[in-house]
Amino acid sequence: MVDRRLDDPRLTRAPDAVELDRFQVNLDNTAACPISGWCAYCGESGDLDVGTTRTPIGLICVTACERCTWNSHQRPPLSLGTVETATRVGEHCQHLGINLATMASQLDRENGS
Ligand SMILES: [Zn+2]
Ligand SMILES: [Zn+2]
Repeated sequence: MVDRRLDDPRLTRAPDAVELDRFQVNLDNTAACPISGWCAYCGESGDLDVGTTRTPIGLICVTACERCTWNSHQRPPLSLGTVETATRVGEHCQHLGINLATMASQLDRENGS
């Protein structure tokens, strides 16, 4: 009788694949983020796309025109109050399907590397 234990699929399955996915969230994924009708930086209403930006509180998604997207060093800072920023961080967590704790730990990891 042949010993088949080495062909057991449980032995070759990648370990903890689900676990890794859960902790490696792409915070810049904007697939579920809504685009607003104007650029958050300059108010332009053409060539809009949604991207992400880091704030002291966390990551938020913002709608920006093509010019502001590609000239990130020239665009004016977002004028968001603390409460609005916190709200936007929470909203972007919902777009990603994660909670604030997951985002915070992910940002910690990025800052640490
Ligand atoms: Zn703009
Ligand atoms: Zn978002």
